[in-house]
Amino acid sequence: MAQMDDSLKAALYRISCPDSATLGNFHLGLLAETAAQPIADHLAICPLCTRDIAQLEEFLAETAVSLQPSTAARIKVWIAKRIPSGGQTRNMLGQPAFAVRGSDSGPLMYEAGDAQLSLEVQDDPEHPGRKSILGLVLGIETESVEVKLLQGDAVVTAVTLDELGNFTFAKLEAGTYELTLSGPEMEIHVQDLLI
Ligand SMILES: [Zn+2]
Repeated sequence: MAQMDDSLKAALYRISCPDSATLGNFHLGLLAETAAQPIADHLAICPLCTRDIAQLEEFLAETAVSLQPSTAARIKVWIAKRIPSGGQTRNMLGQPAFAVRGSDSGPLMYEAGDAQLSLEVQDDPEHPGRKSILGLVLGIETESVEVKLLQGDAVVTAVTLDELGNFTFAKLEAGTYELTLSGPEMEIHVQDLLI
């Protein structure tokens, strides 16, 4: 009997509940204020929708990315994973430019979905005390890809990827950055980049 009560209650709640797409959009902040307010009011009294939102949050947390609401549906978001650098990976990427420049530790290597990313952090020869980054990304469509360096939510600097997948940042202050590459179909995040 108790069970029946619950499902009856559930059915009654659900009659006035927004559908899950609307709830999702609400949660992602996609609804206009006039549309969002009734949902917020509803959430305040509806345990079922509150639970749905909690499940959605859990799901988003599991994917470990902060989704950009407007692009979440069609863009692949990859978190770059650091892979050991060294002769082997360098040969795999076949980038003589890096070998010529040279640095003690070699480039930082990352994998992100289909992409391989190599970052060479150096002292900026033209700006004493500052750093530069030479980057190369392979395995993605290089057209219209913007490369950004962020600290917190603030964009420090941004450049466009060249057609071969190279990018350069110069005159950087030492610190911890997040690097993002965002194109029409994908987004790569390199977190906790210490330079
Ligand atoms: Zn509800």
